[in-house]
Amino acid sequence: MKTLREKEKTIFELGGSGKRGMDLPKPEGLAPAAISGPCMRGVAPDLPDLSEVEVVRHFTRLSKLNYGVDDGFYPLGSCTMKHNPKINEVVASLEGFKWSHPMLPYGMVQGTLKAMKMLENALNEITGMDGCSLQPAAGAHGELTGVMMIRACQEKKGNSRQIMLIPDSAHGTNPASSAFSGYEVKEVASDETGCVDLKALAEALDENVAGMMLTNPNTLGIFEKNIQKIADMLHEKGALLYMDGANMNAMMGKARPGELGVDVMHLNLHKTFSTPHGGGGPGAGPVCFREHMAPFQPTPVVDGEGGYHKLNWNCPDSIGKVHGFYGNFLVILKALAYILSLGGNGLEQSTEDAVLAANYVRASLKDDFHIPFDVPTLHEVVFNDKLQEEFGVSTLDIAKRLIDYGIHPPTIYFPLIVHGSLMVEPTESESKEEMDYFIEIMKKIAKEAATSPELLHDAPHDTPVRRLDETKAARNPVLRYGGGKQ
Ligand SMILES: *Cc1c(COP(=O)(O)O)cnc(C)c1O
Repeated sequence: MKTLREKEKTIFELGGSGKRGMDLPKPEGLAPAAISGPCMRGVAPDLPDLSEVEVVRHFTRLSKLNYGVDDGFYPLGSCTMKHNPKINEVVASLEGFKWSHPMLPYGMVQGTLKAMKMLENALNEITGMDGCSLQPAAGAHGELTGVMMIRACQEKKGNSRQIMLIPDSAHGTNPASSAFSGYEVKEVASDETGCVDLKALAEALDENVAGMMLTNPNTLGIFEKNIQKIADMLHEKGALLYMDGANMNAMMGKARPGELGVDVMHLNLHKTFSTPHGGGGPGAGPVCFREHMAPFQPTPVVDGEGGYHKLNWNCPDSIGKVHGFYGNFLVILKALAYILSLGGNGLEQSTEDAVLAANYVRASLKDDFHIPFDVPTLHEVVFNDKLQEEFGVSTLDIAKRLIDYGIHPPTIYFPLIVHGSLMVEPTESESKEEMDYFIEIMKKIAKEAATSPELLHDAPHDTPVRRLDETKAARNPVLRYGGGKQ
């Protein structure tokens, strides 16, 4: 096999002239031109000529450069890169679901609507909430939807409050969603245990605060132990509590946000409920809410009264639609398949296993890597590069060196409140052997940092490209062969 060390050429470099993917018979006589005048191009497009097999091999080789959860350990903290059981795909490709069109009459889509209602009910049961909208297409989209509901709720009460409180340990999408909804973001500091500092909260809280977005467990992987107190403090001042439940995989079966004082929250089906993600594929970020927030939920609302399912558009206080039709339906199905195949006990067990796995990694590496907040964590653990600093080795070096050992690096430099953070989330679906390999390699890297730091500075050694200027790639992508023009 061609080794991946050789840089794959671009398709323009591979192309020759005169090669063809297929031969068509010469047309008999000239067909009348469908396009003419100024729309007709004067010269043929400068596309590379290749045979079919060359095209297939080029893209197959490129696809092998990819790395995913189906290749190996992928401990990307906060992202929950866990196994997606293949049965979910089978369910999502059932003919009746796959071919159902969102504009079919109710009589023909009772099963489809019922599946949506079943998932809503399951998510309400898991979160202890009263209602659910499956429309949002991602976690951040769920946040935006929830914050818009908070605004609608406050405005209905005649309050045009301006401020959204965000702890400094929140996920970065939280301040973004608040700002996007027109709120002014005010940061609340954490205390030495990595949780919201209640004194700082009391100081920040006044009649101009519409609500607070609380990531729980927070981005340090720590459960906000004072969440009920926080909810009470907010409610007393007429503010609402939003919970970012993207990482509900650390709470399922153990704690229900609806019972902790949360008014509205979102879930990431493409994390906790196991549907493939990464690379911008479809996801879903359903919003769950308590009864008093129900009037503001997006329309349409799936109504299953009396066993006959239909869509209710008659919701005068609704924030309106937030997605085309009813959301990413096949993602909804995958999550439903996952929940039904695990059952309540299975979900609880998956939470326990995720927390056990993270704490196993934490305990195994605590002498090799510094743990800035040394308190028990849930599904993920945050290390940093403090012990490696004296050898001139940084978090980036450690992450890049992992690639040489065939392991996807963890999340780095996030959360922002930890200098040089390295955030590991093994998830519940990894075997002990896989985690032991990761631990062994991390220990080896800690040793290398002390004895041969240049090995880390140069890493990765074995990839077709080495260290990229990541900012440049994002800000100035070269999408065309032959130079910088886009
Ligand atoms: C992943 C994540 C999000 C954002 O979810 P997307 O689906 O990527 O928009 C928000 N909050 C937390 C805590 C997350 O882990």
